[in-house]
Amino acid sequence: MIANLLNGKKIANKIKKKIKKKLFFKNRRSPGLAIIYIGNNKNSEIYIRKKKEICEEIGINFFLFSLKKNCKKLEIISLIKDLNINSKIDGIVLQTPIESKYIKNVSKIFEEIHPSKDVDGLHPYNIGRLFQKSPILRPCTSYGIIQLLEHYKIKIPGLNAVIIGSSNIVGKPMALELLMQGATVTITHSLTKNLKKHVSSADLLIVAVGKPNFITSNWIKKYSIIIDVGINYTKNQKIVGDVKIDKFILNKASYITPVPGGVGPMTVIALVQNIMLSYQMHL
Ligand code: NAD
Repeated sequence: MIANLLNGKKIANKIKKKIKKKLFFKNRRSPGLAIIYIGNNKNSEIYIRKKKEICEEIGINFFLFSLKKNCKKLEIISLIKDLNINSKIDGIVLQTPIESKYIKNVSKIFEEIHPSKDVDGLHPYNIGRLFQKSPILRPCTSYGIIQLLEHYKIKIPGLNAVIIGSSNIVGKPMALELLMQGATVTITHSLTKNLKKHVSSADLLIVAVGKPNFITSNWIKKYSIIIDVGINYTKNQKIVGDVKIDKFILNKASYITPVPGGVGPMTVIALVQNIMLSYQMHL
């Protein structure tokens, strides 16, 4: 048996076409996305460019606010407050990582974004909604993964799902999404004992660690579904995931996401879906 590839690029394209069609028929103002970018980080710039490209392609107005690395917390908060009441803006993204040594307690800044414009879905209000199984704006990566599984008609209820990584951005929201879908969920992290035992019991394995080749074929359960969230850059700037993809893993898993072309495009399209939802809420 050869594992089926979960083609995030193809599914994200399908979703994009549907969104474009819908927007084309609406004779109202265009949606607007504002990105706040602090300092300079090569990877952040790649992500911002991707967001800009998809916004322009769909017809979402894109506004970039670049602030200096040594900007003050008050400056960022005042910009967020302006954007919160700006009727041309439906979504606000505070691009991470924020690499300023002058800014302590970054999460407080995120909380300044109005929950109805929090298109990354990470505000405590939106996380709380997901916790209560009534989400509105959902964290993009986990929302994208759920949609990818749905498109391939993978039945989640009752699956033994194991997540490696417990970050606020990926691991924890993923656990809430899977719980909402009826999976039995285990979250593991750097202090987890006997990780291999957990991994080998997973029907559905989500890997979000940020270490290339972290998971190899001998760890996984036969016929399991493997979702690789990791984005790692090799020395020659090639992108690889956290899972070592070779003939052994392809012969053992039932489904697997490629990197690139798996989770990444689904994350970006989930952001667009959030912007569209936010736009409808603000019309
Ligand atoms: P993070 O650094 O915040 O979290 C990493 C997690 O891995 C932590 O919970 C940590 O405890 C865990 N971990 C580290 N070493 C471990 C070990 N030896 N055993 C078990 N757990 C271990 O990272 P993040 O923001 O959650 O991102 C994870 C990866 O996913 C990164 O490569 C990131 O670039 C990528 N990512 C991809 C997308 C996408 O759209 N594809 C989106 C977000 C993040």
